[in-house]
Amino acid sequence: MPHFEYFRMVLTRCSTCFECLDGARVRRFDMMEMTVSDMFDRKKTADGARLPMPADFSLIAGPCSAESLAQLRAVAAFLEDLRRQGYPVEALRAGVWKPRTRPGHFEGYGEKALDWLRQIRAEFPDLPLMTEVAVPAHAEACLKAGIDRFWVGARTVSNPFTVQALADGLRGSGLTIRVKNPVSPDLALWIGAMERLEKAGLKVEAVHRGFGLYNAAPYRNAPLWELPIELKRRCSGLRVLCDPSHIAGQARYVAEVAQLAVDLEMDGLMVELHPAPETALSDAAQQLTPEAFASLLHQLCFKHTHTNSDRLETLRRLVDEADRELIGVLARRFDLVRQMGAVKKEENLSVLQLPRWQTVLEQRTEWAQAMGMSPEFVKALFRCIHTESVNLQR
Ligand code: PEP
Ligand code: MN
Repeated sequence: MPHFEYFRMVLTRCSTCFECLDGARVRRFDMMEMTVSDMFDRKKTADGARLPMPADFSLIAGPCSAESLAQLRAVAAFLEDLRRQGYPVEALRAGVWKPRTRPGHFEGYGEKALDWLRQIRAEFPDLPLMTEVAVPAHAEACLKAGIDRFWVGARTVSNPFTVQALADGLRGSGLTIRVKNPVSPDLALWIGAMERLEKAGLKVEAVHRGFGLYNAAPYRNAPLWELPIELKRRCSGLRVLCDPSHIAGQARYVAEVAQLAVDLEMDGLMVELHPAPETALSDAAQQLTPEAFASLLHQLCFKHTHTNSDRLETLRRLVDEADRELIGVLARRFDLVRQMGAVKKEENLSVLQLPRWQTVLEQRTEWAQAMGMSPEFVKALFRCIHTESVNLQR
C-alpha cells in the first residue's frame, strides 16, 4: 500500500483515539488540525530524532492458517509491498497443520495448503515462507515443498519427546527454527526444547507468545514479560521475537502488546494478519487486516538503547546506594526472624502464626500505600519475604 494511503487511514483512526507511541493515551484531538508532519512530530524521541525500525528487527506476518491460494497471494503481495517501503519483512507465516485445543475445529488444510504455498513460492521467489511443524513428517513435507522457515508451536514445545523427534528429523539441515514458549510458564522447558534443536545443528530463536493461565484477562495468554526478559538474561545473544497476536487474542490489543515488546527490546514480531479476519477459519478475533498491520508498523516507536549523557548514571549510582540499604534492612529483618525462630523452638510454638501474618500483610500494605506504592506490589513483596522468613525458622 502506498505510504500516503495508510497515512490517511491512520489519520481517520486518530479521530477517535490516538495511541501515543510512548504508550500513553493522548486525548481525542481534532483530525482536521492534524497533518502528516504532526504525526511524525508525535513519534520523535525526546532528543528530536525519529528512529527507524532497525534492519535486524524481524517482521514475520501472515494468516493463522493457510486457507486458499487467493488469501495467501493477497498477503504475499502486501508483504512484498511493505518490503519495498523498507520494512524488514523476513517471512510470510501460514499454518498448514493447526494444533487445536479441542477436536471438531478446523485443523488446517495440510497437503492442499502446501500446494498453495508451493505456488506462492513460485510467484514470490524472494519472500521466505514459514510454517509450524509438530512432527518430523511435517518438516519433511515442508522441505519438499520449498518452505524454508519453521516454528515449533507452544503445545509441541511442551513435549520433550516430540521436540527430540523434530530435532532428529531436522538434524544437519542447518535451518533456523523459531521456538515458541510452552503453554505453561516453564522457562526450563522452553530452554530445554531450544537446546535439543541447537544440539541437532539448527539455528534457534525464541518466540514469546504468552502463557495459558486460567485468567489472562484482558488478553488471551498472560504475557508474563519477566519470563522472556529472564530468558534473554540467561541465554545471552539469543534472539527473542514476540507474537503479540497470541498474547492479545483480540485484534484491538495487538498494537499495544507489540509496542511493549519493542520497549522491552524484543528482536522482532510475528503477527497474524488476514485479508478478511472475520471469515478466518482459526483465530479470527486476533488477526489484523493488512491495513491495521500497516498502521501498527507505522506507529511503532523505537528508542535509543544507549546514551552518552551521565544523568542516568548519576541516578543509577543513587539507586545502587538505595539497594545496598535495602539489603541491609532485609538482613536485619532476617536476623530478628532467626531470633524469633529460636524463641518459638524453646517455647514449642508453631512456625506459622496465621493471625500475625495476616496483620503483617495488611499493615505493610497500608504503610506502603500511604507512601504511594501499589498494594499488589507490596503484597507480592511481603509474600516473598514471609516465605523466606518461614524457611529460616524451620
Ligand atoms: C500459531 O502461531 O498459529 C499457533 C498455533 O501458535 P501457538 O503455538 O503459539 O498457539
Ligand atoms: Mn493462530
